[in-house]
Amino acid sequence: MKVTVLGRYGPFPAAGGACSGYLINASGSYVLLDCGAGVLSRLAVYIAPESLSALILSHLHSDHISDVSVLRYALDLASERRDDALPVWVPLEPKDQLGQLLYRDHLVLHEPLCGQAVKIGALKATPVAVKHSIPTFGWRISDGAKTLAYSADSENCESLVELAREADLFLCEATYIDERLRQGGRNHLSARQAGQIAARAGVKRLLLTHLCPLEDPDLLLAEAQKVFPAAELAVERRTYEV
Ligand SMILES: [Zn+2]
Ligand SMILES: [Zn+2]
Repeated sequence: MKVTVLGRYGPFPAAGGACSGYLINASGSYVLLDCGAGVLSRLAVYIAPESLSALILSHLHSDHISDVSVLRYALDLASERRDDALPVWVPLEPKDQLGQLLYRDHLVLHEPLCGQAVKIGALKATPVAVKHSIPTFGWRISDGAKTLAYSADSENCESLVELAREADLFLCEATYIDERLRQGGRNHLSARQAGQIAARAGVKRLLLTHLCPLEDPDLLLAEAQKVFPAAELAVERRTYEV
C-alpha cells in the first residue's frame, strides 16, 4: 500500500500548498482520503479523477471537502468513461454542507458507522469517531499486511490512541504549537500531542500533517520530536510506502 500526500495544510493552504488530501493506492484500488482546496489538480498528476475507487471525507469542513465541488464536474464530463457513481464515505452532518457534494448522481453518499469496516477493493477501511467541532471520523486502512491510520481533525482524545494502535504509518494532524493551545486553541492537536499519541499507540512511523500555515513547521517538528523522536513532517507530493 502506498500513500501520496497531495496536501498537508489546514484550515487554509500555505502559498503553493494544498489542504488535506491523501491518495492511497493498493492492488489497483485508488482511494482519496479528503479533498480540500488544491487537491484535485494534484490528484490529476497521478490518476484521472474518474479512476478513483472511492472517496473518504473525514468531515464536512471546507478544508477537507472544497475541491469535491469541482471533482463532481470532472466526473460529469468523464461520465462516458465511468458507468457507476463514485462511492463517498462521509458523515451526513451538518446537513447544509451536503449540497456541494451532490451533482447528477455522480456521487453516492454512505454514512460511516463507528468501528464498522468498509471493503474497498483490496482494502479494509474502518472509521473511528474522533473529537472535533462537527461529526468527524478518523480512518484505519489496511491491505491485510500493513495499516495506515489517519487522525482527521481532532482534539486530544483516547480514541486517537486506539485508532493509531501499532499502525505502520500514522498521518496525524498537528495544527498548533503548544503555545497556541495554552492561548486557547481548540478542536485540534498540537504537534507535541500528536507525538504523545503516536508514542502511546506504538506506531512505527509518524507523519505530521494538517499544518497551520501560521506556524513555523520546524517548531512543530521539534515539539513533536521531543516526545516521538522519529516524527517527520508530511511532504506534499511525496509517496510513502506504508
Ligand atoms: Zn481541517
Ligand atoms: Zn475540521
